[in-house]
Amino acid sequence: MKISSAPFGVTPTGEEVQIFSLSNHHGVEVKIINYGGIIVAINVPDRNGKIDDVVLGHESLDGYLNRSRYFGALCGRYANRIAHGTFRLHDVDYKLATNNGPNHLHGGLRGFDKVVWTADAKADVLQLTYASRDSEEGYPGNLSVRVNYSLTDENELRIEYFATTDKDTIINLTNHSYFNLAATGTVLDHQLTIHADAFTAVDNALIPTGELRAVAGTPMDFNSATPIGARIEVNHEQLRRAGGYDHNFVLHTGEAKLRTVTEVYEPATGRVLMVSTTQPGMQFYSGNFLDGTIVGKNGRAYIKHSGFCLETQHFPDSPNHPNFPSTVLRPGEQYHQVTVFKFSIR
Ligand code: BGC
Repeated sequence: MKISSAPFGVTPTGEEVQIFSLSNHHGVEVKIINYGGIIVAINVPDRNGKIDDVVLGHESLDGYLNRSRYFGALCGRYANRIAHGTFRLHDVDYKLATNNGPNHLHGGLRGFDKVVWTADAKADVLQLTYASRDSEEGYPGNLSVRVNYSLTDENELRIEYFATTDKDTIINLTNHSYFNLAATGTVLDHQLTIHADAFTAVDNALIPTGELRAVAGTPMDFNSATPIGARIEVNHEQLRRAGGYDHNFVLHTGEAKLRTVTEVYEPATGRVLMVSTTQPGMQFYSGNFLDGTIVGKNGRAYIKHSGFCLETQHFPDSPNHPNFPSTVLRPGEQYHQVTVFKFSIR
């Protein structure tokens, strides 16, 4: 892998942002900026060798500063929703910033997607670090976070997350890339497989009710490859609530080891994306809130369903659900999660 860097702009507070390009021997290239740890581009070949950028995003920093839908972003301290932005830890009630109606989403008003990370491009890894101070966005404890990005010659983008804290806190980190393996149109023809028997059912505000509901017999069952659009309009209460798919799939509730959990195949180009992760859950979001008002790279208007996200994560609102795997991190412990996005053709 080779890493090169170039200036990408300056934030309104005068912080310089760099763009890093990770490339391998197969012409695959991943571009990442240290503002929000955002993946700006993933250039991969199709079955005829044609290279396209398979993620949504912006050409310049201005787009990320002003028209953020978490395109490509590194989300934290707690990715996804926390009901009313409140949780209780050791008999103390914490109040987080609210930025999604009455709820907390993706780390709050200024989550990890909106801060400038310290970047260190080593020989085979781009390392981003960020020191999140005690009470930032309402969270307890000084948290040191490190995220490593690397690209292998097997066309795997590997993202490895580490964190430590000086006080008990909660943590849930993810990457919020919107993929479109055809690099055009919507993703409704992409064939999706998710190895999951259950999902966390949600209420009208997309907050888990606490129920782990079986996917069998519902439009949430992706255990065999199914086009994303095949059942998206079905009159099903969970799909109606979200305007499509916007649900956390239960991958496992056991030991954190790297498992292959998802495959996406795009028939026109032959591109395949496989996702492996140590995380217990994954939010499958079908870009329901995109409405064509954001114009991104190459002048393309991002209409509804023009990208999908596979946000490997702990379950949303876990701090308020004792039956969900714990997201508490204590002093002396190391948070460690790995997600691998592997690109190939068929
Ligand atoms: C959420 C969506 C939200 C989107 C923000 C996803 O992770 O599940 O509900 O609208 O992020 O772009």
